[in-house]
Amino acid sequence: MGKSVLVMMEIKDNKLRNVSREILTAANRIAEEIVAVAFGSDIAKHTEELGRYGASKVYTVTNKELDVYTTDAYFQALCQVIDKVQPDAILMPHTAIGKDLAPRIASFYNWGLVSDVIDVQKEGADIIFTRPIYAGKALEKRKVVEGIPFATVRPNNIVAEVTGGSVEKIDFKAEIKNLLTIVKEVIRKTSEGVDLAEAKVVVAGGRGIKSSEGFSLLQDLANVLGGAVGASRGACDAEYCDYSLQIGQTGKVVTPDLYIACGISGAIQHLAGMSSSKVILAINKDPEAPIFQIADYGVVGDLFEVVPLLIEEFKKLQYTTA
Ligand code: FAD
Repeated sequence: MGKSVLVMMEIKDNKLRNVSREILTAANRIAEEIVAVAFGSDIAKHTEELGRYGASKVYTVTNKELDVYTTDAYFQALCQVIDKVQPDAILMPHTAIGKDLAPRIASFYNWGLVSDVIDVQKEGADIIFTRPIYAGKALEKRKVVEGIPFATVRPNNIVAEVTGGSVEKIDFKAEIKNLLTIVKEVIRKTSEGVDLAEAKVVVAGGRGIKSSEGFSLLQDLANVLGGAVGASRGACDAEYCDYSLQIGQTGKVVTPDLYIACGISGAIQHLAGMSSSKVILAINKDPEAPIFQIADYGVVGDLFEVVPLLIEEFKKLQYTTA
C-alpha cells in the first residue's frame, strides 16, 4: 500500500504555497513514488522545486480554465489525472481549495476521506493519519481499510524537507467541458502580505480591540514580527475587520509558532481555530478570561498599553521570522 502517492500542489500568486512542500514531505514517508499534479498555464517553472522536495513525476495541467480555481474545472482535470496515474494514495492541502475539492472527488470515486490531518506516518503496511478532534482537545489516528487512503493535510504542521532528486515533467491537457462556473474577476479582500493560514506568527484581535483603527496597531505588531493579522468572530461581527480574517470553528484554522491573542475572551469556537499553535500569548484585561487556560504566556492588562510596548521591544531585537 502507498506505492505511488498523488499529491495536489497549490500555487498562489505564482508562488508555490508552503503546504505543497509539506505534503510532499508527508508523501515521502509513505511513498515509493511521488507524483505531483499542478494546475494552471504558468506552472512549469515550479517543477524543479517539486523535484527537490521529493516528487519524481510532475503532471503540469496547463489548461487556461485552471488559472483561477473553480470547482468544476479542477474537478474534471483532477479526475482525469487520477484515472491516468491510478495512485495508491492521494494527499491534498487542507486549504480552501482542498476543502472544496476533496469531498467531491471522494464521493465521485466512492472513497472515504480523512480530512484535516496533521501527521502522516507509515506503520508496517498501514498508513496512519493523525487528526485533531473535539476542537483540538484530542487527537485520533485513522487508517483506511477500504478504498485508497485519501487525506487533506492541514498547513503548518509538517516540516518540509528537501530530499533532492530528479523529476520528470509530464505535460497534460485535460478535457474540460460544460463548465457551470466562469470566474470573470477576483477581488481581493485581504491586503497583500503574509498568508494567514501559513504565517509563523499570528497577531489576532477580538472585540477588545474596540474599533477598526485598533487593528492597525495589531498590524504594526504583525509587521515587526513578520506575521499576519487574524481576528475573532466577535471582532468581525462588530465590523472592526473583514470576515476573511476570522479564526475558529467557522473561520480559518491556523497553527503558527506564535499566536498572540489580543482582547479575545477564548470562546470554544475560537479555540477550535488556534489551539494547536505552538506558543500562545494572551493579552486580556480580565484575569478570568478563558483564553488564559490555554495560553502559554498571559499578560493581564490593557492591550492598548501592552501592544505598543511589545512593538517597541521587538523592534529593538529586530525580530524576524524570515
Ligand atoms: P468577547 O467574548 O466579547 O471578548 C472580548 C475580550 O476582550 C474580553 O475577554 C475582554 O476582557 C477583553 N478586553 C476588552 N477590552 C480590552 C482591553 N482594552 N485590553 C485587553 N483585553 C480587553 N468565534 C470565533 O472567534 N471564531 C469562530 O469561528 C466562531 N464560530 C462560531 C460558530 C458558532 C456556531 C457560534 C455559536 C459562535 C461562533 N463564534 C466564533 C463566536 C464565539 O462564541 C464568541 O462569541 C467570539 O469568539 C467572541 O469574540 P471575542 O473573544 O472577540 O469577544
